[in-house]
Amino acid sequence: MSSVRYELRGATALITLDYPPVNGLGAALRSGIVQALEQALADGSVQAIVLAGSERAFSGGADVKEFGTSLATQEPRLPAVIAALENAAKPVVAAIGGVCMGGGLELALGAHYRVARADAQLALPEVKLGLMPGAGGTQRLPRAIGVARALEMIVSGATMKAKAFEGTALLDAVVEGDPVPAALELAQQVVAQGLPRKRIRDLVIDDAGAPAALQAMRESVAKGSKFLPAPGKCIDAVELCLTTPFDEGLARERETFLALMSTPEARALRHIFGAERAASKVPGIPEGTALRTIARVGVIGAGTMGAGIAMNFLSAGIPVVLLEMKQDALDRGVATIRRNYEATVKKGKLKAEQLEKNMALLAPTLSYESFKDVDLAIEAVFENIDVKRQVFGTLDTVCKPGAILASNTSYLDVDAIAGFTQRPQDVLGLHFFSPANVMRLLEVVRGAKTAPDVLATCMALARKIGKMAIVSGVCDGFIGNRMLARYNAAVAGLIAAGASPQQLDGALQAFGMAMGPCRVGDLAGLDIGWATRKRRAEEAGVPFVPIIADKLCEAGRFGQKTGAGWYRYEAGSREPLPDPVTQQIIDAYRAERGIVPRAVGDAEIVERCMFALANEGARILEEGIAARASDIDLVYLNGYGFPRHRGGPMFNATLVGLPEVVKALQRFAAEPGAEAFWQPAPLLLKLAAEGKGFG
Ligand code: NAD
Repeated sequence: MSSVRYELRGATALITLDYPPVNGLGAALRSGIVQALEQALADGSVQAIVLAGSERAFSGGADVKEFGTSLATQEPRLPAVIAALENAAKPVVAAIGGVCMGGGLELALGAHYRVARADAQLALPEVKLGLMPGAGGTQRLPRAIGVARALEMIVSGATMKAKAFEGTALLDAVVEGDPVPAALELAQQVVAQGLPRKRIRDLVIDDAGAPAALQAMRESVAKGSKFLPAPGKCIDAVELCLTTPFDEGLARERETFLALMSTPEARALRHIFGAERAASKVPGIPEGTALRTIARVGVIGAGTMGAGIAMNFLSAGIPVVLLEMKQDALDRGVATIRRNYEATVKKGKLKAEQLEKNMALLAPTLSYESFKDVDLAIEAVFENIDVKRQVFGTLDTVCKPGAILASNTSYLDVDAIAGFTQRPQDVLGLHFFSPANVMRLLEVVRGAKTAPDVLATCMALARKIGKMAIVSGVCDGFIGNRMLARYNAAVAGLIAAGASPQQLDGALQAFGMAMGPCRVGDLAGLDIGWATRKRRAEEAGVPFVPIIADKLCEAGRFGQKTGAGWYRYEAGSREPLPDPVTQQIIDAYRAERGIVPRAVGDAEIVERCMFALANEGARILEEGIAARASDIDLVYLNGYGFPRHRGGPMFNATLVGLPEVVKALQRFAAEPGAEAFWQPAPLLLKLAAEGKGFG
């Protein structure tokens, strides 16, 4: 019973869950609870029972360490533990403080009475892992708080403060401070007054608004979570409360929960959960590395990226000096920042006074004078190595020793940039994604000489400004854009072969991508890729051979900003409209190369695009540019609109099966002229031969 403490408090047995950090309901804790309960029931001097957790957590739910092991299914399972509480012959009072989530809340719902600390955090977050509550949550919570509120909690997985449930059957008392004394008192009162052992399962739902709430939630889920089965199953399960006897509802809930467990979607979401935990562990950074203090940030360039980058720090309460070359560019940058904040205020997501507080932290300037005391300088000027050379040379002379110098470059060599200074150990890439104040991804680019504490400081800072930071080594395009180049090349090949931009976007959006590649190209500007491809050809000393996207650019079609790219756009609209001019450019391109268009299937589109990504990901992995495949997945999930239910390009390849991926790549490579592009990466071949996946 080591996970549980058992004490007598007069005629009450106090059972305290004692399995740090959050009383995860692992096998030992589950059996500990049942044994303690049996002891209390067997002891004639005990009249009531209080079940409590720690100050930090009543229970955080399932024990993540047991995921996928036999311990997770070892008896007694959670439903049996809850049934033991619910059917106990002596009253059971749960004392809830801290976190009370998932199985933890389901456990509490099995008690006869509940007392909670006002700020205790209650949630049924299973849906976030592609699951639904599987130990009575969907059957008991609606009986306790009503169908509409329960649906909201179960389908969103949101965390609620206990105080919000005062006066409902969920909580008999809400207290400030430690809930245990109040629970002990309530237990004595129940005994003294002969109050009943209240079981939530016996409550009858009398809720005229329930059908409408169910319908509204179904509509919202159909719109927002169409690729995930769990939210819909949650709604079905809650509906059983209205139509089905409790025990049958419980059995059906469990059945669906177990079925969801092995869906690819749930596996993908579990993968992401683990990936996010792993990403902060960076090889070569000793634990406990002392961090540098970042109290003031300087941003150079107030264009598209600089303004957004500055906002991250302002919003986190960190003062920012923003530098431009000319007053009008500076004014434009400051106006952009204010306009973005104002839009957030309009949406009700920011208070007007907070906007002013953020703006007051911004110091626009035309002079490097104010860079003397910044702790971190982030450069976001034109993507041109000579401009970067000049900026970093200046930063090196004006910034204090120990200041971190970062570049937001998308493609340029961070080691070369570090070489423009006398302090390469203090230089790294901080590659934000556009819009930089919104996108969660931050690639932290580690140069050959970047000091471990510089890297560790930036990883910690990323957390502070709410970014998902992924460490990348130095290469052309880092992790994300290097893979994107292959993806776009696959897209170009498919269009040349016979697909239309609409079909391509449709197939990849049906796969789950937030936006198809042609729409993304039009949004971001096709000229960026055009410039990159021209630069690469020049660097490689080979003639530049335009692809179809480049032909569009040659015709002045850069995307939305010029009113036309792959699609055409009416003035003031972002709605992509098919354009016969695009078709003419595609036709001319095919004719020039003697390509006879063929029918391309949607499945082929998805295969080529996804496997091009995974194949390049494998190279990135074997070169050590990324530390782990799951980091690559997070880059795509957080920066490129990759669907969460697919887990990322590397996880997706693993689910498909690496031997299948290799077979497809070899098939593509056998086509004339395609060998170099589709050649499977050595690591991919090796893992496939060993019967392994990428993780
Ligand atoms: P931008 O043209 O919108 O802004 C660049 C700004 O830098 C301009 O306002 C310009 O006046 C200013 N500037 C140029 N030289 C300067 C100098 N010497 N001193 C001070 N200011 C100077 O460009 P952007 O899109 O914001 O890109 C900036 C950097 O961010 C580039 O390296 C780019 O590759 C990278 N980046 C861009 C994106 C994107 O989607 N736009 C995404 C990630 C990274």
